Amino acid sequence: MTTAQNRRPTLMIVHAHPDDEASQTGGTLARYSAAGFRTVLVTCTDGGQGDGTGGVKPGHPAHRPAQTAARRAKELARSAVALGITDLIQLGHPDSGMPASADEIVPATFSNLDAEPLVRRLEALMHEYRPDVIVTYPPNGLSHHPDHIRAHELTVTAFDRVRRAGGIDRRHGTAGPPSRSVPKLYYIAVSLSRLKTLRALAEGVLEPDAWIPPLEIGVDDDTVTTAVDISDHWAEKLRALSAHASQADAAALLRVLSLSGAEERTEEYVRAEPPWTGGEREDDLFAGIIA
Ligand SMILES: [Zn+2]
Repeated sequence: MTTAQNRRPTLMIVHAHPDDEASQTGGTLARYSAAGFRTVLVTCTDGGQGDGTGGVKPGHPAHRPAQTAARRAKELARSAVALGITDLIQLGHPDSGMPASADEIVPATFSNLDAEPLVRRLEALMHEYRPDVIVTYPPNGLSHHPDHIRAHELTVTAFDRVRRAGGIDRRHGTAGPPSRSVPKLYYIAVSLSRLKTLRALAEGVLEPDAWIPPLEIGVDDDTVTTAVDISDHWAEKLRALSAHASQADAAALLRVLSLSGAEERTEEYVRAEPPWTGGEREDDLFAGIIA
């Protein structure tokens, strides 16, 4: 399978919050952008439940979600420039925050909005941008954040509809024979070995009360199907993270990654579609698509 010569290979990544694109997939976006690919970032929420002015946490009386969202939209735009993203789509749904339990989620936030219009929007974006590769969270949202889980569910439902419709129309204009194909689908992953290294670094440099990614978000190293080398785009990833300076977690991760070694400079994925049947691990999300 090869992409049409006159069409740029296209990567679409669906994220929940401003800063997720940098922390989880920044190197991947920078790498494919630099290679001349079209890189489409869909950020579903406005990030309004992030840290507010002066680091005020959501739930504090001085926290202003609208003001926080406005700042984070600008930060996201700067991050997108750092990563060379060609198409930034901010859907702007209200951030659900990270409640202690599911019944504490504020009504009318992303994780509990009516699914159908959200799925239809993503499906329409897939037909509009015609990605060869789609990336989103795994079923557990990586961090169990309700917005991450929602982004996974909606993306997978939209993807299934596209697949059932025979894939995406790859023709240019109306000329030429029908040419449809189903994008590849990947979930973001962190292998246990990489996670353990990151945790050790974090424990060494961060304050005792800092959030350190728990071991449970890691997957067995054997589960990872695809590891993308981002060493040539490490600087862009760090620059994108630094664009999100208002967020304590992004700032902390920046400190940790600034100290990490060459072995950390990969971003990992699990291929969901076409299903993985074993064999040698991929080093490119576009393996099998780009000749
Ligand atoms: Zn997030």
